[in-house]
Amino acid sequence: MPLSALPSTRFSLEGVLAMSAPQVRTHLSVDALFDLLRTGFAAIADHRSGDTDISLPDALMSAFARFSLKSPSLLAFDQERTEGNLQRVYGIERVPCDTAMRESLDPVEPEALRPLFKHVVRALQRGKALEECVFVEGHYLLALDGTGYFASQQIHCASCLDTHHRNGTITYRHQMLGAALIHPDQRAVIPLMPEPIITQDGTDKNDCERNAAKRLITKLRRDHPHLQLIVTEDSLSSNAPHIQTLHAHHMHYILGVKEGDHAYVFEHVAAAEQAGRVTYDDRDAPETGLRHRFRFVSDVPLNASNVALRVNCLEGWEWDQAKDQGQYFSWVTDLRVNKGTVYQLMRGGRARWRIENETFNTLKNQGYHFEHNFGHGYQHLSVVFAILMMLAFLVDQVQQLCCPLFQAVWAQLGSKRRLWEKMRALFYAYALESMQHLFEALLYGLKKSAPIFASDSS
Ligand SMILES: [Zn+2]
Repeated sequence: MPLSALPSTRFSLEGVLAMSAPQVRTHLSVDALFDLLRTGFAAIADHRSGDTDISLPDALMSAFARFSLKSPSLLAFDQERTEGNLQRVYGIERVPCDTAMRESLDPVEPEALRPLFKHVVRALQRGKALEECVFVEGHYLLALDGTGYFASQQIHCASCLDTHHRNGTITYRHQMLGAALIHPDQRAVIPLMPEPIITQDGTDKNDCERNAAKRLITKLRRDHPHLQLIVTEDSLSSNAPHIQTLHAHHMHYILGVKEGDHAYVFEHVAAAEQAGRVTYDDRDAPETGLRHRFRFVSDVPLNASNVALRVNCLEGWEWDQAKDQGQYFSWVTDLRVNKGTVYQLMRGGRARWRIENETFNTLKNQGYHFEHNFGHGYQHLSVVFAILMMLAFLVDQVQQLCCPLFQAVWAQLGSKRRLWEKMRALFYAYALESMQHLFEALLYGLKKSAPIFASDSS
């Protein structure tokens, strides 16, 4: 079936859900999510050989706790002083030493961590919290993007990608394809299970982002068969095989295109312009002070070798009158572009940067230490650590989205960095009952009685 036969989603600006202040939802509280993760970790098969006096769930939860507390390194995590809190707050029965933790996690298949992401997203759905991220008419925006988080000329494992240089040296790298539900009006993003870009079993060939995208989309659809998705990506993704994969998995798309890489599309837009088939739309956006001009045309072929694959092309020029500067963007989409939808489609395409900025840059620069080597291992450790860090980020993002207590602490302290610092300082210094206890102590002080936040057990 040609893509042009796909039923286009009709947009209305009224269809965009307004952001409303959420109540505390008991099952989405940070402590409830820790419980959910512990249960999920307990379901992971233990393939370790030999004597193991530390349970696998304890090893997984200990690594998670370090990322949740944003410890700059494993060594910086003072185990003796924090043992009681690790037991009470994170439910770890026996806290492993760093070596035991690394040895326990190295054989864990990264794929075994997938259900954890699914459980948290399901909890968000049950609490009607995911609905706050609906982009338009029941559809969510899903941003995909690749990132690297490890490179070394010495340290390597069985999963590393390798580049052999002419001078005989080798660079070993780890990359992953990240996926996150995003919304143009929300800073919080909901990361889904990332797809590691690693050396694949049974082959010595390096993996690539395109193969990883195919795996990610197939598995994501299996995890969430009914989630209505509009995928937004950069121009590297605007190729026929990828669009066919999205189509086969019932996903819509808004993908970047560049004149240099997609000349065929732009030639057809120019021809349509000559034939009077393009539509222009000008408007001022009072909320941003920006002036927009859009040009769009439907049903153009993506490239010469796939003329049956038809896309709608949308270009946007935006002018910031205060700064006297402009920008240009261009996308292809399977969604219907008309004067009623064009502005919202542009916002969807532009929101893609949230996976770079609010996800990867936050992980790298806002206290998570994404690029720090916490231990590489021989098999999967590096990948398992990266995924557990993404899981810690997911739990934090749920708090940012849904928890008025977390939001109040964040607002009071002014920055995430300061919030993580204060959080660690308290965790190291005082006996705490739960993460809620810690947040309340940050907000009201340890001695003062804390008002109870209205909770909703939906
Ligand atoms: Zn490696």
